[in-house]
Amino acid sequence: MLNVASNIKEIVDNILQNYIPGEISSPVEKALYEPQMLFNEPKEKMDEYRLKAIKYAFKHHYENNKFYRQLCKENGVTPDDIRSIDDFSKIPLLPHRFYKDYPSGRDFALWLANLMSVELPRIEIEKRKPTYDDIIEDFQKAGITVCFSSGTTGKFTFIPRDEKTYKMGQYAIARCAIEMLSHWYDYDTNAYLLFPNPKKTNIYVGKVANVLFDAMKNVKVAIDTKITTDILRISMGVTFNLKEKMMYKVIKAKSKKMNQEMIENILKWLEEMDRKNERIFFAGAPFILNAVMERLREEGIYYDFGERGAVLTGGGWKIHEDKRLPVKEFREKVKRYLGIPEENCLDLYAMVEGNGFMVHCPEGHYLHIPTTYYHPMVVDEDGMPLEYGEEGRFAFLDSLALSYPGFIITGDKVKLHEECPACHRTTPVLEPEITRIRGEEIRGCAEEMRRLLLEG
Ligand SMILES: [Zn+2]
Repeated sequence: MLNVASNIKEIVDNILQNYIPGEISSPVEKALYEPQMLFNEPKEKMDEYRLKAIKYAFKHHYENNKFYRQLCKENGVTPDDIRSIDDFSKIPLLPHRFYKDYPSGRDFALWLANLMSVELPRIEIEKRKPTYDDIIEDFQKAGITVCFSSGTTGKFTFIPRDEKTYKMGQYAIARCAIEMLSHWYDYDTNAYLLFPNPKKTNIYVGKVANVLFDAMKNVKVAIDTKITTDILRISMGVTFNLKEKMMYKVIKAKSKKMNQEMIENILKWLEEMDRKNERIFFAGAPFILNAVMERLREEGIYYDFGERGAVLTGGGWKIHEDKRLPVKEFREKVKRYLGIPEENCLDLYAMVEGNGFMVHCPEGHYLHIPTTYYHPMVVDEDGMPLEYGEEGRFAFLDSLALSYPGFIITGDKVKLHEECPACHRTTPVLEPEITRIRGEEIRGCAEEMRRLLLEG
C-alpha cells in the first residue's frame, strides 16, 4: 500500500496561494477549492459539489452568452430545468469542431469575443490586418489568455480564458497531479518540463504547465523557443505562399538541430542530478523522454533514481507516424533506464477545451476524473448518452470554464467505469488507452510537438 499524504491539500494550498481567490464564494470555486481530495471524497459529497457547480455554470452561460442562450432556446432548455444530476443530459453540448470554426483578420477578434461569457475589458486590435498571433497578443494585454492546440491539418482549436478561469485551471492541474503523487511529492524537487516554455507560447499544454514553476524548486524547459500559430502551422507543412515554403525548410533544419541539443541537455541534466543525489520529476510529452531513454539504451547507461524520481506524461502517445507507444511498455522502460518505479510513472489526460485533469492512479493506472467540478459522459454518434462500460465519444460538462461554455463533445474514444477496478478512490475512471474516433484528425499537444521536432 502506498502512503497517501492526508494533508496534501494543505501542502499544495500553501505553495499555490496566488492561485486561490481571497474569498471562495461561488459554487464553482467551492467545488474546486474546498474538497480535501479531488479524487477521493465520499460520493454523495462530490455529487453535491458537482450539481451546484454545473448548475451555476450553466445559468452563467445562459445569462451571459448570446449564442449559447440561442442554442438553449432551440433545444427548449432553461436553467430551471436542471434540478438534479439526471437533468445534466438536457444541457446542450457543443461539438469540439465549433471551437475550430474561426475566421481570419479582425473578424477573428470578434469571433473570440462572441465565444466569451464574461464582460470583456477593452481590447485594442493594434494592426490594420492582424494575424492570429497579433490578436492573441492583443487579447493577452487585456488579461485574456487565448490558448490553442492543433490537429494534423494545421487547423487550430482556440479557447479564450480570462484570468479567473486560467488560474482555476492551473490550480486544478496541480492539485490533481500532486494528489495522485502525494506518496512522493515534495517541493524540494528538480523538474524538467518536456513541453514548450509557457512564457513563450500559448500552446495549451505549455500554458497550463506554467504552475509547475511554483510547485517545484527548480524547473528546466525542454523547448525554449517562441512558438506561434504561424510557426506551428508552417512546421506541419501547411504553407500559403513561397515565403512560407522557404520558412518551412528553415524551420525543419533548425528543429532537427534543436531536437539534438534538447536531448543532449536532458542527458547532461540527468547525469548531474544523479551525481548530486537530487530528486527529479519529468512532466510532459512522452516521446521526448522516450528519445532520451533510447540514447541511454544505446550508451548502456542505467540510472537508479528509485523513490527520488517521478514522471507525469501528457499530450498523446504517438512516437512515429503510425506507431503508438503503449503506456505500460513506457513505464517498464522508465523503470529499466531511470530506475523510477511504475507507481511514480503516471499519465495525465486533458484537452485545450476543458479544465478536467484526469490522472492515473498509481495502483492501477486508470484515469480518475475529478468529479467535484467536472462531469464526464460517453455518447454515441447521435450524441445519446451511453452506459458505463460502453465505448463511445468522450463528452464533458466543465464548470471551471466560466469564460466560455465548457459543455463539449470531443473527438476522443473512451470507456468510462463508475468504479476503479484497481483502487478504492471514489471517482469514476477512464480506461488508460485513449484513441481518436475514426475520421477525426490526430490531435494532442505532444503530437504537434512531435511534428515540430522530429519530422525532418
Ligand atoms: Zn484507481
